[in-house]
Amino acid sequence: MTTQNHIGHFIGGRHVASTSGRSSPVFNPADGSVSAEVALAGDSELNAAVAAAHAAFPAWSATSPLRRARVMFRFKELMEQNAARLAALITAEHGKVYTDAQGEVARGIEVVEFACGIPQLMKGEYTEQVGKGIDAWTMRQALGVCVGITPFNFPVMVPMWMFPMAIACGNTFILKPSERDPSASLLMAELLTEAGLPDGVFNVLQGDKDAVNGLLEHPDVRAVSFVGSTPIAQAIYAHGCAQGKRVQALGGAKNHMVVMPDADLGQTVDALMGAAFGSAGERCMAISVVVAVGQVGDQLVEALLPRLRALKIAHGMDPAAEMGPVVTAAHKDKIIGYIDEGVAAGATLAADGRDFVLPGHERGFFLGATLFDHVTPAMSIYREEIFGPVLCIVRVPDFGAALDLVNSHEFGNGTAIYTRDGHTAREFSHRVQVGMVGVNVPIPVPMAFHSFGGWKRSLFGDHHAHGPESVRFYTRQKAITQRWPASTAAGAEFAMPTMI
Ligand code: NAD
Repeated sequence: MTTQNHIGHFIGGRHVASTSGRSSPVFNPADGSVSAEVALAGDSELNAAVAAAHAAFPAWSATSPLRRARVMFRFKELMEQNAARLAALITAEHGKVYTDAQGEVARGIEVVEFACGIPQLMKGEYTEQVGKGIDAWTMRQALGVCVGITPFNFPVMVPMWMFPMAIACGNTFILKPSERDPSASLLMAELLTEAGLPDGVFNVLQGDKDAVNGLLEHPDVRAVSFVGSTPIAQAIYAHGCAQGKRVQALGGAKNHMVVMPDADLGQTVDALMGAAFGSAGERCMAISVVVAVGQVGDQLVEALLPRLRALKIAHGMDPAAEMGPVVTAAHKDKIIGYIDEGVAAGATLAADGRDFVLPGHERGFFLGATLFDHVTPAMSIYREEIFGPVLCIVRVPDFGAALDLVNSHEFGNGTAIYTRDGHTAREFSHRVQVGMVGVNVPIPVPMAFHSFGGWKRSLFGDHHAHGPESVRFYTRQKAITQRWPASTAAGAEFAMPTMI
């Protein structure tokens, strides 16, 4: 049950209060207060969620794709009608500014739009007369109970990379949201029910690593989609695969923007401000490293510094806010720890956000924007994902060195190049070892009808999220070969059939 300050589960079409006795605080990052306690599921709630999803699967998977699509159409309308409520919930628990939260909801709705096309997307392939009097076709069928485990930084959009497609394909679903910002998941569950989704098809199980491990080991769970940090992604991939599950696990990032000497400086700086400091840098597609080629580093620092000073840091509901707080006090401390390490390692601290205080919100988890120059690949601020408003500039002599730098990093989620030269842009796109590439586009997040995913240690598994790849992930193929022979017996065949 969701009471004023207790956030529970949604199982089998209704709100369910916690029975485990375990909970975790949910903060309002803007003022540091505890706004609620979220339940952390124990075994009985976990088993109830899997049982509800398992029981709902036969009827839902047998429902025609057209009817499943109609539920998605209705859900899309309801999401649009409730977009403001969802965005406000995101800002209240995550801290990001309201317009950014609205954008997150809109990107999630686009996946529902794509899922509305499921009758077309699930069509198989047919070949007449593969042999004499024999026809063959392939079709895709739902898997069963699918699980989504999601991070704090997109409490609406990342779950929506998963469940609209999983459900439209005929699966049932259990969402295990981040315990940092769990409320939006319950509102989406209510809207799905209002849209006509049968009870048990979509369930929300609040919890921490115990719930995740229980879901990974449950014999009735067929597939797991995970988005979060790389160490957890890797562990979940290994654990889930060892249990015989289908797993896709999207991990962390360190996204580089290569700035060539011929780039339009004004456009580059605008792009960097949004891509580095939007959502306080808590985006897996945030730009956290600028690779300044040739002499462009000095110009960039000179142009960026006044913009950093002018950045409007405020409560996320302030209409003028450009950057809000980070998610928790612990995360703020971790980011400050990285800045300390960068200073100790000898990077030039061009702008220091550590001591920023927002008047009237002294207990909020706010940080200012930080800019490091002359960062080297050996430094922890370069190697590791900070996930905060910290931008690092690495200087390199030429394009080849820039490309080598990007390709040598362990992460390969997103990257961008700013240049006016088409050949350089094409070479970069062709040779870079990264899953999503922007040419004069700082955050190249693929639209819902393409698929999203990184390379290297930014993704474990074979399929990217949403788009056509998600149809393959959430279904399995069956091949049928069919003959309706005339009644004359042809006799037994013992050689390998060749069908010609
Ligand atoms: P996280 O890895 O701490 O948590 C993600 C999920 O895993 C949460 O639901 C959490 O409850 C669960 N979890 C945490 N520890 C666990 C454990 N030991 N065992 C099992 N489950 C555990 O990530 P976060 O801090 O919530 O999110 C930020 C991270 O997510 C960043 O690294 C960011 O890059 C990444 N991210 C990646 C993408 C992408 O598409 N690649 C998108 C968004 C966020």
